[in-house]
Amino acid sequence: MAERAPRRVAVVAGGVAGLAAAVNLLDRAAAAGLDLRVTVFEKGTDPGGNLQTLREGPWQLEWGPNGFLNSEPATLRLVCRLGLDGELLPSSDATRHRFLLIDGRLQEIPTSPKAFLKSKLMPTGAKLRLAGELLVPPRKDLGRAAEDPATDETVDAFGRRRLGAAFAEIMLDPMVKGVFGGNSRKLSLAAAFPRMVELERDHGGLFKAMAALARRRRREGKAGTDAGPSGVLTSFNRGMGQLIDGLVHALATDPRAELRTGAAVSRVTFAGGAWHVAGHDFDRGPYDAVIDAAPAHAAAVQLREVSPVLHENLVRIPFAPMAVIALGFDRAAVKHDLQGFGLLIPSREQRELLGVLWTSSIFARRAPEGRVLLTCMAGGADNPGVLELDDEALVGVTLSELRPLLGIKGTPEMVRIIRHQRAIAQYVPGHLARLAALDRELARHPGLFLTGASYRGISVNSCCKEAEAVADRVVAHLAAAGGRASLEAM
Ligand SMILES: Cc1cc2nc3c(=O)[nH]c(=O)nc-3n(C[C@H](O)[C@H](O)[C@H](O)COP(=O)(O)OP(=O)(O)OC[C@H]3O[C@@H](n4cnc5c(N)ncnc54)[C@H](O)[C@@H]3O)c2cc1C
Repeated sequence: MAERAPRRVAVVAGGVAGLAAAVNLLDRAAAAGLDLRVTVFEKGTDPGGNLQTLREGPWQLEWGPNGFLNSEPATLRLVCRLGLDGELLPSSDATRHRFLLIDGRLQEIPTSPKAFLKSKLMPTGAKLRLAGELLVPPRKDLGRAAEDPATDETVDAFGRRRLGAAFAEIMLDPMVKGVFGGNSRKLSLAAAFPRMVELERDHGGLFKAMAALARRRRREGKAGTDAGPSGVLTSFNRGMGQLIDGLVHALATDPRAELRTGAAVSRVTFAGGAWHVAGHDFDRGPYDAVIDAAPAHAAAVQLREVSPVLHENLVRIPFAPMAVIALGFDRAAVKHDLQGFGLLIPSREQRELLGVLWTSSIFARRAPEGRVLLTCMAGGADNPGVLELDDEALVGVTLSELRPLLGIKGTPEMVRIIRHQRAIAQYVPGHLARLAALDRELARHPGLFLTGASYRGISVNSCCKEAEAVADRVVAHLAAAGGRASLEAM
């Protein structure tokens, strides 16, 4: 009797989502006693996607994410698995101070309801309307957006309904720009911020939810000792790229794994009872399963032959562009004390910038001694034209907006511009219904899986959480399928 050949899985794309899925899959297969081979196909010359830490002389910059909240167990499990727990770098306490641009002036965002009432963030009438949230009844159709897209409320509509128009414009609009580079009037609350829907559904309102959660924390003896529900922004001593280095090392030292860079996948197909993965100079297979972890726009192209339904749904997930302008200054050139996380800019201020991170105040060792590093974001879903500006014009616009806000004199010592043409997936209304349609179609193609920031959360944390879930599903598929493709390959 022929000895059973190992099961084979292809992972398309080596961003954090694909790499984490590969490592989780290898671990789970070993635990389940499955003999497995995993190949990751990454288009770039380096793996990691948006997670890359750059060095500009003594400056340390991030290509994409600056950090993650330390509240997602899946990320922390991965960090420990990779032996990186000793390398975690929490943000400084100063990051509690966050600022908004209101009528051309920086205002600190209050962190307690009492401070909020005292603040100059919004007029008294708007504060009263905010307090009235307690009286707003919950919607009856919460949690149905996947089945009934007509109930899929935008972030802005939710804000206006529960918290008032001023809060929606002053707080929610810039928050959505800061997180998604998106427009709060065009993003689905249920898809982008599912927790908000849960809080309204389970507690009847946000203030009621806050009170209930505070009571629970007190009961559990956690009051005042934890960092709140959202956790502490965290990176690594050598930047976010360290997570990728850890993942790559785990694959490189595992004889069951292969990581191919410079391998752009253009086609995934199913033929002869197995999956195949091809690019312009390679055609590999058979595979028992394929995890497509490329952004939805790329997966749409790769999966066109497998299913027009997948293609149609994937191609309709829009992405917002974003320019990152990193500026390094002599400390003395910036008058503002920069004691804080940074600033966000509501749309009604009509600026080109979306926001600015005071990076060297957030994390240690990002700027050389006596210097400060600012990371400015421009563009976003509503302002794609900014990315067309040449470097000089982009820096000019950035400086003209920043100088009066932070009291900047002179020119930056270091400038680095990164243009993300398709930075962040936009979870528009109908996104959850689209995911349901994708799931129905994937069920017709056993062995094909989608993961990554295009679907169930744009953050690094979401990618890590989904990487565990997809690894579980692949192992279950392999256990059920019995390794047919691998046997046929013999
Ligand atoms: C400017 C910016 C700031 C951000 N800040 C934060 C933050 O502070 N915190 C946070 O949690 N998240 C942040 N994010 C989001 C974060 O970057 C994503 O969560 C994460 O990078 C998504 O990982 P991914 O693997 O799904 O996709 P990506 O990082 O986009 O990786 C996709 C990979 O697919 C590869 N690929 C594409 N096409 C093909 C192909 N045809 N064949 C093979 N490979 C292919 C690409 O080369 C890439 O390596 C930010 C994003 C941006 C753009």
